Amino acid sequence: MSKRDYYEVLGVDRNASQEEIKRAYRKLARKYHPDVTGGDKEAEAKFKEVNEAYEVLSDEQKRAHYDRFGHSEPGSFGGAGGFGFGDMDDIFDIFFGGTHRRSPSSGPRRGSDIRFDMTISLEEAATGLEREVEIRRYNTCSTCGGSGASPGSSMVTCGQCQGTGQVGTTQSTPFGRFSTYQTCPRCRGEGKIIENPCTECGGQGRTHGSRRIKVTVPPGVDSGTRLRVAGEGEAGYRGGPPGDLYIYVFVREHDVFKREGQDLFLELPIEFSQAALGAELEVPTLEGRAKMTIPAGTQPGRVFRLRGKGMPSLRGFGRGDLHVRISIAVPTNLSGEEEALLRRFAELRGEKVAPTKDKGLFKRVKDMFEKHA
Ligand SMILES: [Zn+2]
Ligand SMILES: [Zn+2]
Repeated sequence: MSKRDYYEVLGVDRNASQEEIKRAYRKLARKYHPDVTGGDKEAEAKFKEVNEAYEVLSDEQKRAHYDRFGHSEPGSFGGAGGFGFGDMDDIFDIFFGGTHRRSPSSGPRRGSDIRFDMTISLEEAATGLEREVEIRRYNTCSTCGGSGASPGSSMVTCGQCQGTGQVGTTQSTPFGRFSTYQTCPRCRGEGKIIENPCTECGGQGRTHGSRRIKVTVPPGVDSGTRLRVAGEGEAGYRGGPPGDLYIYVFVREHDVFKREGQDLFLELPIEFSQAALGAELEVPTLEGRAKMTIPAGTQPGRVFRLRGKGMPSLRGFGRGDLHVRISIAVPTNLSGEEEALLRRFAELRGEKVAPTKDKGLFKRVKDMFEKHA
């Protein structure tokens, strides 16, 4: 399966800034997120592709590597910096499926990193939250404590290489005898082997299971924010250090507010009379209602800024603003009296309006009575 160029996937230049990459990612992630597309297979594939591209291009080190060498081969995952894409099933496919190659050493190895996708609301992004997530991963074996040796047994010197970790072969050639040394196949270069492997983990020092982990999401996160939970990735192999857990945040689109960085945008329809005469209004904010004064003669499209009613900063200080864009709701279903008043208004201002559709005397009288009842 050939992969598309990561820059092409995100639709950015090869020299795009991190900010541009992040912006492009957010836009595409919103478009293809399963929450939005409702399980459409093609969109899901696009979402994964976009995530994969972002995962590489948003990390300067991985990006530099990609710029030089292109796509890495399948099977090169694992170890530092290797983690899966897409949802959890895919991660485990990558880690445990046929494409995963064992590293040649059988000694302690760092556990792989794990990626976990978390979808939150805009309100949650504003306040921050704590959530328990269930991660399927390798945990340190409780029987052997990670060593891989069964309790009471220990590491013994490898008999094949006598603890040197290397075995030599001597060849006779027309030019003389040559000795070449290779990594010992029995202990894989370690010089020691486990006398009795732990039966619980088969000598791996870790067992597969799940673990609930409490994740703290700070206020101000946005789609594309990556949170690192150190040491909560896969347990290491034979006592090696654990990998890290990476939480990928996705913030759902809000019904009312649009977000751009720390600023929020809101379209607020007001009555024609309120726009003309001015009014004191209540506008929704993320923390409830706020008062806002509309001056007389406010035109549609005018934007009022409520300072500090936007999103908090991820760095912990300062807040964005809420921009309220005014639109005018034109009244419909006018009663007889309302229509008469508006016609009088138009007449006073010399405005040409469509002629009256006569509702009949009965209806006009009825409307009058209803108004004054
Ligand atoms: Zn064990
Ligand atoms: Zn050996």
